[in-house]
Amino acid sequence: MKYVGLMDCNNFFVSCERLFRPDLQNKPTLVLSSNDGCVVARSQEIKDMGIPMGVPYFKVKDIIKDSKTAVFSSNFSLYRDLSARVYDSLSEQVPTVEQYSIDESFFYLNADSNTDVEREALSIKNKIERQTGIPVSIGVASNKTLAKLASKFAKKDKGVFVLDTEKLQKLALEVPLYDIWGIGINLNKSLQSNNIANVADYLALDVAVVRKLYGVVGERLWLELSGKLINKVCRKKTIKQSITHSRSFNKAIFTKSVIEDALSYHTRMAAEDLRSVNLVATGVKIFIMPSRHGDYVLQGLSANIIFDTPTDDTFAMLDNINKVLNGIYKASVPYKKAGITLFGLIDKSSLQNKLFNNTVDKNILLNTLDNLNKKFGKDFIKIGDRQKSKMWQTKADKLSPAYTTRWSDIPIVSA
Ligand SMILES: [Mg+2]
Repeated sequence: MKYVGLMDCNNFFVSCERLFRPDLQNKPTLVLSSNDGCVVARSQEIKDMGIPMGVPYFKVKDIIKDSKTAVFSSNFSLYRDLSARVYDSLSEQVPTVEQYSIDESFFYLNADSNTDVEREALSIKNKIERQTGIPVSIGVASNKTLAKLASKFAKKDKGVFVLDTEKLQKLALEVPLYDIWGIGINLNKSLQSNNIANVADYLALDVAVVRKLYGVVGERLWLELSGKLINKVCRKKTIKQSITHSRSFNKAIFTKSVIEDALSYHTRMAAEDLRSVNLVATGVKIFIMPSRHGDYVLQGLSANIIFDTPTDDTFAMLDNINKVLNGIYKASVPYKKAGITLFGLIDKSSLQNKLFNNTVDKNILLNTLDNLNKKFGKDFIKIGDRQKSKMWQTKADKLSPAYTTRWSDIPIVSA
């Protein structure tokens, strides 16, 4: 029998930090977004304290102090590197892996029974943990939608959970539809207005009715919830890993406002690309490079920004980028090239719909802009003015070392 697995790294950013700080095992630990603005990853202890995802850091500073919580700025090169190791370990063990986000991958499993597939998943989990040091959970079911749901149960169980039709029938009344992967805000609203709140309610509908009310998306979802394999697992690169926009200047540039202009341009272009494929970015890397000749070759700099929530919003990106540029720009350097890379791309529709509750209007605005630009030519309407007066440095006070990507930061076990 063919099964679909979803491997999900537990509290991924926190686990990456703990890997090199074993003293933090079982101690409250959290990771902040760029500029140390919001909480973007929480250890179980933090979750148990009731600190929500995405809360601004200043709001919880006192609780954090009292509980002696370890706090980290996001260290994206570390997370990316460990993410690749986890992916490699999984790929060595199963033939088809689809990396879905920085800490999640879908894959196929073949087994004769639920007991066998559970044993297999457990062995995969153990091997990944042994090889990488990152704790993972694996949800197994007959398709992606159910595997995603199974992975939630896996976290509360022994790290592996096989969700078959029998178990689903028992759980269907307890699982609210907003917990289901792929239910976007519009579908959720429409379901609620028809008093369809949980999986059991939804499955009780006739599939023809579902198609009529909720279209193809609703029908595919219904079919997957009832156990059919609709959404295939595709090998890795089906989801773009990143989108880069950059260009060399035709002469050396010293002026910051010009570089800001270039970066805003590249951001607008990249964000438009991102929206056209219905993805959102976890973060953005900006880079400014000096001429390859001369004494400035080593002064090219880049900075990573992790967004408070994954986004495709040009406004939010520009706001972050302008803040960070101040931290890496040097007035004495002749710059030859500038650009940005949006990374950590994930499917927009699969983001928790709650995140988009107050961005619906902005989505309409951005879509309108994209359409106008398509109609009247690239970059016809520009978003984002230069913000020359905003002179403040990026904060990453609590950044951990680049343990795995910089020689000087490699941890010393004994010396
Ligand atoms: Mg995770």
